[in-house]
Amino acid sequence: MDKNSSQTHSSERINISAASLERAQYAKAIIEMKYSKKKKEEEEKFEEWCEVKKRMEELGLSEYEKRSITEDLQHEEASRLRDKRKAITVYDFEPLTIIGRGAFGEVRLVRQKHTNAIYAMKKVSKSEMVRKNQVQHIKSERNVLALAENPWVVDLAYTFQDEKHLYFAMEYLPGGDLMTILIKRDILPESEARFYLAECVLAVESVHNLNYIHRDLKPDNILIDRYGHIKLADFGLCKCCEINYDNPFSNLTKLEEDKIDKIQSEGFRRSRKLAFSTVGTPDYIAPEIFGKSGYDEKVDWWSLGVIFFEMVVGYPPFYSEDPKLTCQKILNWKKTFKVPRDASLSKDAIDLIYKFVCDKDNRLGTNGAEEVKRHPYFNGINWKTLRSGKAPWVPSLQDEMDTSNFDKFDEIDPFYPSNIKKKFQRKDSNFIGFTYKRNESQRNSLVTALQNLEEAMPSRSSLRIARESSELDNY
Ligand code: ADP
Ligand code: MG
Repeated sequence: MDKNSSQTHSSERINISAASLERAQYAKAIIEMKYSKKKKEEEEKFEEWCEVKKRMEELGLSEYEKRSITEDLQHEEASRLRDKRKAITVYDFEPLTIIGRGAFGEVRLVRQKHTNAIYAMKKVSKSEMVRKNQVQHIKSERNVLALAENPWVVDLAYTFQDEKHLYFAMEYLPGGDLMTILIKRDILPESEARFYLAECVLAVESVHNLNYIHRDLKPDNILIDRYGHIKLADFGLCKCCEINYDNPFSNLTKLEEDKIDKIQSEGFRRSRKLAFSTVGTPDYIAPEIFGKSGYDEKVDWWSLGVIFFEMVVGYPPFYSEDPKLTCQKILNWKKTFKVPRDASLSKDAIDLIYKFVCDKDNRLGTNGAEEVKRHPYFNGINWKTLRSGKAPWVPSLQDEMDTSNFDKFDEIDPFYPSNIKKKFQRKDSNFIGFTYKRNESQRNSLVTALQNLEEAMPSRSSLRIARESSELDNY
């Protein structure tokens, strides 16, 4: 290569635009990431097969048994991989009842066609997300739900998208939400409220351990599973963040304001649930969130204090028909907040409420969840067995599709999108990396399969133990 051509070459290089360079670097990073992921997966698979072989030896299986188990596992592995490659779309699900409607879309019971599995599918409008600047929040919702694998957080099976919507297929929690319980019951006896609050403490602790702040804890984001235990939902849709200090609801549309006006006469709770379904109620928001100097995970402890107050007193402490007034009451909590005497609460309950609903520097939980758990109100709670123990209310359900614990909602938009291609191909730059399948993050099924196998064969393992101990006896 002569000197000239090398000069031309280097000047061409200089001419590459910064944008193309950035794109190229981005592509390179993605390829490298994919490559290293693949390599890691292969290494893991190899190790797992070695493990399988070792365990089969340990179990003392015959050659025939080993061969047939290996074939079964290979078969299972192949179908898992096939499944993984297949893109999931909304057409894989059959729509059933609508169980929730909120700011960005709806939640509906669905049945996955090829497995018959039931899920709660949250469908969120992309244009609404972009319009309300919530793209980052919806991504964090996906991340928390996908990575959590946490008994206190609603389990996420799949996320996918089409041109207009994002979809979250979650485990269905048939007990409804805590708001629905409060609507039915008005006031909970302290013993029951203590159970829900204690479970919320563990749930909040687990979320904080993931370095995440829920920020939107309220009774309708606390769901009840089929055994009556709670799980948190609705991560990331932090409607409150857009509220500004002077005019907290300046982003209410005319329609939403009309809606709030119209339903004010329809009874306190039900109307409140409807009124704020599209904007999010401010009732549970900590005062520092309205301010400009930032906030931290302590905001979640404040919200728990407000939720607890509502459970045992019968209404939320800062309630007002006008959400702006609610925000002002929260900001002026020092003057406006008081636990009413006639609620006849125990001394410890009152003390706990005042320790949650207070200045952030003095708030219980500032030094972690342990100090919350040590509060005398929780004396007698066994934190380790709480979730596996008996809940005060266990939903009675006809079948896995029972939606009797949810409100009824009218069908507005068809479940299947109209006028768009069945198969969504174009990458949507706002939502790259949104798609997810639970399997991808799960440990390989091989080892699990083998563990199941061992459990299913107690006689064989006990035989081995017996053999070993009789060998020992011979000494
Ligand atoms: P939004 O952002 O609209 O508040 P949510 O995720 O809180 O969305 O869902 C709205 C409502 O739908 C919840 O209050 C609850 O009643 C219901 N819901 C959401 N997820 C589930 C689920 N996995 N199982 C059962 N019900 C759910
Ligand atoms: Mg919600």
